[in-house]
Amino acid sequence: MTIKSRKVECEFKEMLCKCDKGVYRLTDKLPIEDTNPKQWRHRCTSCGVEVYITAAYPLLVYKERDFMLADSLRFERHSKKVSFSK
Ligand SMILES: [Zn+2]
Repeated sequence: MTIKSRKVECEFKEMLCKCDKGVYRLTDKLPIEDTNPKQWRHRCTSCGVEVYITAAYPLLVYKERDFMLADSLRFERHSKKVSFSK
């Protein structure tokens, strides 16, 4: 098998916190609740509040479909942090 890649234009979709200052990022501890649909634990980058959301933010949107971080889809995550610059 061969992996082929090309550049595409997509949207970077953030979930904003109620505090209006931060955005939600996945926490580095096992963030998934095994519910249906699954829920991922996020923490606000500003006020630190934790919430569960049914998708792992930030999301990329391409051709009206959401794409999530690959390592957030595994049931067990490694403890290394996922970080993005704003
Ligand atoms: Zn906040």
